[in-house]
Amino acid sequence: QADIAMYQAKAAGRNNLRFFDPAMQASIIARTAMEQALHEALDAKQFRIFYQPQVDAEGSIDGAEALLRWEHPKQGMVPPANFIPLAEETGLILPLGHCVLEHTCEQLVKWSRQPKLAELTVAVNVSIRQFRQEDFADQVLAVLAKTGANPARLKLELTESILALDLPDIKSKMGRLKTQGVTFSLDDFGTGYSSLAYLKQLPLDQLKIDRSFVRDILDDANDAAIAKMIIALAASMGLQVIAEGVETAPQKDKLFALGCFNYQGYLFGKPLPIEQFEALLTGR
Ligand code: C2E
Ligand code: MG
Ligand code: MG
Ligand code: MG
Repeated sequence: QADIAMYQAKAAGRNNLRFFDPAMQASIIARTAMEQALHEALDAKQFRIFYQPQVDAEGSIDGAEALLRWEHPKQGMVPPANFIPLAEETGLILPLGHCVLEHTCEQLVKWSRQPKLAELTVAVNVSIRQFRQEDFADQVLAVLAKTGANPARLKLELTESILALDLPDIKSKMGRLKTQGVTFSLDDFGTGYSSLAYLKQLPLDQLKIDRSFVRDILDDANDAAIAKMIIALAASMGLQVIAEGVETAPQKDKLFALGCFNYQGYLFGKPLPIEQFEALLTGR
């Protein structure tokens, strides 16, 4: 550590001591340790996928979102907010994301043989870094072919950040997957900077209302207005709309009244380990 401090001091030049920051140095070391820990976690297969129910207007579960967890030997279940940003920065999200896709597709194949599970659609989050890979569509198609999963049961969640990419490129990647039956949802919708002109050119199937608009939908007129606008937008573009973060029945009723008939949130179920999710559906 002393060596690192010395190196940084030298690299920073003559006036370095004024800027020497032990907290920053500690954070660099912590970051490196965390990066190392993530690599080891991948090798040691410490990542788990939880499934959170998605329901229709009648409250029947018709899908699930696959959500990553890190089962840390000492810290327990680590939520994605604590490791996805670093995984994205370091590129580790590429093997990790591929792993999530493979597991989900294997799960789809198992479910396809069980009556109450065969009709489920599973949504998988795709980070912009994954999507940006030139062979992204080929990778997904290869996983589908290898596992034998039905592409129509796979939904990919993208965020508005992909709109920063080259439009013809986005369209061709999405188009190749769509011809095979894969569907697309735009996650956290309303939090990014979507140009509506751009948006309408994407072959999307669903908009997902971000939970920040759902939380105070009953008390905050602006949030209600935004939700209403997103629902109208989806309807006019022929897209399905789903609300995330639905925690209470009044929130669900409000969304229903506004014309949103698909929901995900603690009211219907938290993200669950696979056995519990299956038990919920099969009633065991
Ligand atoms: P997201 O895709 O928007 O996922 C929804 C998040 O909202 C999940 O958090 C879920 O547990 C949480 N949530 C669902 N219903 C409720 C509710 O009623 N109330 C509250 N307060 N929260 C609710 P989670 O699992 O911590 O995931 C956070 C984010 O991490 C995800 O946000 C997604 O962006 C990212 N993520 C998770 N898994 C993956 C993955 O496999 N790949 C990538 N690239 N990102 C992932
Ligand atoms: Mg998502
Ligand atoms: Mg979301
Ligand atoms: Mg969100």
